[in-house]
Amino acid sequence: MTRAVIALGANLGDARAALQGAVDALSKTQGIDVLAASPVYETEPVGGPEQPVYVNAVILIDTSLDPDDLLTRANAIEAEWQRTREVHWGPRTLDIDIIEIEGFISDSERLTIPHPRAHERGFVLVPWLTVDPKAELHGAPVAELIQRVDASGVRMLQPRVELKVSQ
Ligand code: ADP
Ligand code: MG
Repeated sequence: MTRAVIALGANLGDARAALQGAVDALSKTQGIDVLAASPVYETEPVGGPEQPVYVNAVILIDTSLDPDDLLTRANAIEAEWQRTREVHWGPRTLDIDIIEIEGFISDSERLTIPHPRAHERGFVLVPWLTVDPKAELHGAPVAELIQRVDASGVRMLQPRVELKVSQ
C-alpha cells in the first residue's frame, strides 16, 4: 500500500454532500483505504470566473492502485456527480485532485504529481496540515508553505463539519 493525499472541492449543488460522497466512493473502491479526512473548509474561489464559494477538504488514503488507475477512479467519481468541464477553473459539483503519492513523481499532462499548484493553494495546504501536521511538499514543510500563501479566504466551517470516514 502507498500513501497518497487527495484534495476535494465543490461549489455547485449540495457541495458538502459531494465531498462526503467522494469519501464514500473512494472508501468503497477496491484497493483504496481512506485513513483520515480534514474538517470541511469554506474557501474563496481562486482564479477562474466569478463563482460561488467552495467547500474543500483533504483526505489521506492508502492505495494499491497504480497512479494512473487512481486518477481514472477519481475522474469516474467526479462524473458520477455530473462534473462537467465547460469553463477552465469554473464552478464544479466535485473536483478530486491527487496532491501527492508517496515515492512517485510524474510530469505528464494527464497526471502531474506532486500537483503543480498545490504549494500555492491555501485551500489545499491548510486542510492538509490538519490531517498531517508533518506534511512536506517538494521538501518544504506544508506549515511553512502556508506562511507564504494568502490563506485569508480559507475558513474552517463553524460549527465544525467532519467528513465521516468508515473503515
Ligand atoms: P483543475 O483541478 O485544475 O481545476 P480539472 O479537474 O478539470 O482541473 O482537471 C484537468 C486535468 O488535470 C484532468 O484531465 C487530469 O487528467 C489532469 N491532472 C493532471 N494532474 C492531476 C492531478 N495530480 N490530480 C488530478 N488531475 C490531474
Ligand atoms: Mg481537478
